[in-house]
Amino acid sequence: MSAVFTSVSGFPRIGANRELKKIIERYWKQDASLDEVREVAQSLRAKHWRLQAEAGIDLIPSNDFSYYDQMLDTAILLGAVPERYRKLNFEHAEDTLFAIARGYQGERGDVTALPMKKWFTTNYHYIVPEVENPEGLHLAGTKPFDEFLEARAQGLETKPVLIGPYTFLKLARTPEAQELEVTESVISALAFAYASIVKRFGELHATWLQFDEPYLALDKEEGDLELFEALYKPLLDARSAEVKLLLNTYFGNIADAYETVNNLGFDGVGVDLVEGKEENLAAIERYGVNEKTTLFAGVVNGRNIWRNDYAVSLGLVDALRKNVTDRVAVSTACSLLHVPFSTVGEDALGADVLQHFAFAVEKLQEIRDIANLAVKSDESRKSSNVLAKNQALFDGSRVKADSAVANRLANLKDSDFVRLPERAERQRLQKEALGLPDLPTTTIGSFPQTKDIRNARAALRKGEISREAYDEFMRNRIAKCIEHQEQIGLDVLVHGEFERNDMVEYFGQHLRGFKFTKNAWVQSYGTRCVKPPIVWSDVSRESAITVAWSAYAQSCTKHIVKGMLTGPVTILNWSWPREDITHEQQTQQLALAIRDEVLDLERAGIRVIQIDEAALREKLPLRRSDWHKKYLDWAIAAFRLVHSAVAVTTQIHTHMCYSEFNDIIRDIDAMDADVISFEASRGDLVVLDAIHDAHFETEAGPGVYDIHSPRVPGKAELVERIHEILRKMPAQKLWINPDCGLKTRGDAETWPSLENLVAAAKEVRAELSNNQQSNEQSGNPSGNLSNNLNRG
Ligand code: GLN
Ligand code: ZN
Repeated sequence: MSAVFTSVSGFPRIGANRELKKIIERYWKQDASLDEVREVAQSLRAKHWRLQAEAGIDLIPSNDFSYYDQMLDTAILLGAVPERYRKLNFEHAEDTLFAIARGYQGERGDVTALPMKKWFTTNYHYIVPEVENPEGLHLAGTKPFDEFLEARAQGLETKPVLIGPYTFLKLARTPEAQELEVTESVISALAFAYASIVKRFGELHATWLQFDEPYLALDKEEGDLELFEALYKPLLDARSAEVKLLLNTYFGNIADAYETVNNLGFDGVGVDLVEGKEENLAAIERYGVNEKTTLFAGVVNGRNIWRNDYAVSLGLVDALRKNVTDRVAVSTACSLLHVPFSTVGEDALGADVLQHFAFAVEKLQEIRDIANLAVKSDESRKSSNVLAKNQALFDGSRVKADSAVANRLANLKDSDFVRLPERAERQRLQKEALGLPDLPTTTIGSFPQTKDIRNARAALRKGEISREAYDEFMRNRIAKCIEHQEQIGLDVLVHGEFERNDMVEYFGQHLRGFKFTKNAWVQSYGTRCVKPPIVWSDVSRESAITVAWSAYAQSCTKHIVKGMLTGPVTILNWSWPREDITHEQQTQQLALAIRDEVLDLERAGIRVIQIDEAALREKLPLRRSDWHKKYLDWAIAAFRLVHSAVAVTTQIHTHMCYSEFNDIIRDIDAMDADVISFEASRGDLVVLDAIHDAHFETEAGPGVYDIHSPRVPGKAELVERIHEILRKMPAQKLWINPDCGLKTRGDAETWPSLENLVAAAKEVRAELSNNQQSNEQSGNPSGNLSNNLNRG
């Protein structure tokens, strides 16, 4: 049998201590030079390559580095830079890249950023390429070659990684935010561009090239497989004797494409044997593996931090080698971009806890171990310490179940998942009880986390200030924030979330069952990183978490203060979930804990409660047939369980940081919230058509400006946006808000933006009531405010 070699799909690029984030943010603040940014980037690449080489990885990725996002890099590589960014005429390519990613406002012009979307089922966001001229796509850059040669200069041969043409084509959009029209000439332009890349790497004597095609894990539309073939045939033909092509897939199964892929004769095919394992294995068994192809078995999870169970992985590799092909490589299931850097330095967790975790660096060793063990006889495996030590982690003694939690769950009744009376009735009563104007204004919850706020939290953590001093400081900030919101005239106020480092970690810290790391950061978008907590054992609430802050905020004002919670699905999706019980079970445990908090807030006089489900859509299975069975059925139920017991006049809001829920719009409505706010400022408003068509009952606040960008939207621009929205939805159901929390912004842009937002809402409100008055005078019976506005 042939040897088993090792491969990594991609490695985290932000750095062990977020060096890349820090230097880029300093650059944005003009506190570091571009040369410094480049130097840090180069040294990170060198370090990451070296680490992988030292761990014995045979195929080390290059071009997995990015200043901001690999989709954006691909768009730039293919010449898809929209005119408005090119016209800024930056001298340095990095500045153009940052302008596309974050928008730009300055002497060169004023442009918004391209939209961002979640990368499949992860919390990583990619920039959606905008392609003005699809037929003109061509090889327009050198980044993959430069980085390949950079590694070579350090004595390392790497495997360049690119987003493949199929995924690129599927994710790219026209300037009107539509899917690209796939014509012959578009296909040939794209295939030619990629073939040129293959050729060029042939000239450079690269040995392996990896094309990532996660989009293959999605349901196929008619013609998709033909498209895939048409894109890849020219690439495969462009191979020279030396260059091998690895088609890499992940985040799910490619069962419905496997036969096509297999027939094409790639040198390597990467399949995810963590997610979509059964389906992938069945397809491989059915069609076999092309004699030209090495199967890259993705057995090391790139999406969770638990140790690999070697017995399971070896079982898979053994079975493949015995029954299907002896050309097997051991690989990550997807890029390691989605896990933190290393467990080194997390000693506070204790060795007995830490031994259960493997971050990116530790996963390199796992890949090596599995490949080493794979070629050993049963005999020598039996005497292997590595294997014995690994198996001891899975002997079932890690945690004890909490019987109180189990009892509570066992006693839930169907009625615990239903809020009464029905929503239409509630909305009517709430309008009266809360006394809000039309187009009520609010924010999503957090206000800028300025340095003094972060310092105060850190000081408390380190014991440098007393609990009393900290509480005093926070109350002060809350009072100021409330006062400021009153001044600018917002309708529903928030306390500002200053006490929260993060919307998930904060709740994790106040619930039983979680563990936390010091430095386990994962890139979310651009320079933004998150540090998910770890679900370690059964979850329950010890005591009230947010009530004192919200109640204090409410005591500062006569206006309504909105309580602010994170929902159970989001807490789980933005944590590292356990692998020994199901996600459904973990979500239910969380739902009970948050339900207790909702009821405590209500008891403390909070009349509007927002339960953020920012991550609900994220884990929607890629395959439609799995949506309900494997996810929505229990995810939506968990949300309903959280709020079903509140009084009729308590208004329940939810929030989502995206608007791609057209296809699950009924499920969103079935969460049975009274109001939902969501991101809608970047990109089109097609979701509002879906809302209309579905007779969506939930009141809605489509975000009217982009908080991911530092630019301040003017009042006129906001009025225009509100008009646009009103053309698609009735004023009675519309809320006016930014598109997400303001935590990452500065005060300097936040307050003027909100002032403009309130002014815009007031202006449109006045227009609406003028229209209504004039209609009443003219005896127009149709009282629909938005209809009137449309005509006006
Ligand atoms: N309430 C949270 C905040 O405002 C919501 C954050 C989010 O949606 N990501 O920060
Ligand atoms: Zn959000």
